[in-house]
Amino acid sequence: MSDMFTNATPNFSFEIFPPKGAGKLSSIFETVDALASLHPDLISVTYGAGGSSRDNTIEIASTIQKRYMLPAVAHLTCVGSTLEQTDTLLCELKEKGVRTILALRGDRRADSDYQDGYFKHASELVAHIKKHYDFHVLGACYPEKHPEAPSLEEDIRHLKEKVDAGVDALVTQLFLDNDDFYRFRDKARAAGVNVPIVAGIMPITVPVMLEKVVSMCGAKIPPAVQRFVDAYGHNAEAVREAGVAYATQQIADLLAAGVDGIHIYSMNKAGITRQIAQNIHGILYSLRVKRT
Ligand SMILES: Cc1cc2nc3c(=O)[nH]c(=O)nc-3n(C[C@H](O)[C@H](O)[C@H](O)COP(=O)(O)OP(=O)(O)OC[C@H]3O[C@@H](n4cnc5c(N)ncnc54)[C@H](O)[C@@H]3O)c2cc1C
Repeated sequence: MSDMFTNATPNFSFEIFPPKGAGKLSSIFETVDALASLHPDLISVTYGAGGSSRDNTIEIASTIQKRYMLPAVAHLTCVGSTLEQTDTLLCELKEKGVRTILALRGDRRADSDYQDGYFKHASELVAHIKKHYDFHVLGACYPEKHPEAPSLEEDIRHLKEKVDAGVDALVTQLFLDNDDFYRFRDKARAAGVNVPIVAGIMPITVPVMLEKVVSMCGAKIPPAVQRFVDAYGHNAEAVREAGVAYATQQIADLLAAGVDGIHIYSMNKAGITRQIAQNIHGILYSLRVKRT
């Protein structure tokens, strides 16, 4: 099992994405500076998600590891890639000192030119990495099921295959209703998924994020979230504060329910992430003292 998920429980981590376009790398390191000062257990860097640059994932992850002495996680997708392309990236990650990969399939494109890559499912990528390399491997999971899965049960059956292929810990897709997470966690445990399940939390701090959340992953919008977005829609500061308060409440409840870890989708917004981290600091560290 990945040391970073057993050394500190509950785990606390952030996700960032590489900026689009060349020459923007310095802006992400300002964000990393601010996030690193919050002492997370790790920072993960997305790969090509939402149109962000692919090339910089390795560079950013490796710099986090070396300059900030923080464990970095590089996301890696295999959709549409050949075996050689995937191996080239894995070798580069190894050379640059990155030790943990979030192994993903990635989203299939809808256009007619699209072709599957060498690996059809993330579980195949996980098995390949575990067989040929020495990385810790994380995997993705979906409390409200993956959009392509016919049912949560079927999705969890495939999740179990992915875990059996060698996943050390799972990170969830964002969700806004903790009951969805608890239902999923119970079912996953009953199906034999016994690795840590880290909850992915995305603070809703601008109204447009709600539409993105729905189109990206089909997450359910609880009435309480819809209400504050509708009520404060034109008041940016009020939406932001209500979003921070909602995410704080979600995390406090998850910690009370014994969650293995919290992964904040920071959206590269260090100020918002700092507010939430400060709000939950007392609860998080009292739990860590008790459990370790
Ligand atoms: C924490 C997290 C981080 C992410 N980071 C990124 C990122 O950096 N870049 C990016 O592009 N995307 C990212 N994504 C999105 C992800 O790539 C998509 O959700 C993608 O559609 C599925 O990837 P997966 O690894 O979960 O796929 P898989 O685990 O392969 O699952 C995808 C679907 O296939 C089904 N399935 C799995 N195995 C089988 C099988 N043997 N037979 C039939 N069906 C099967 C599953 O039930 C599911 O419906 C992230 C998602 C999460 C939750």
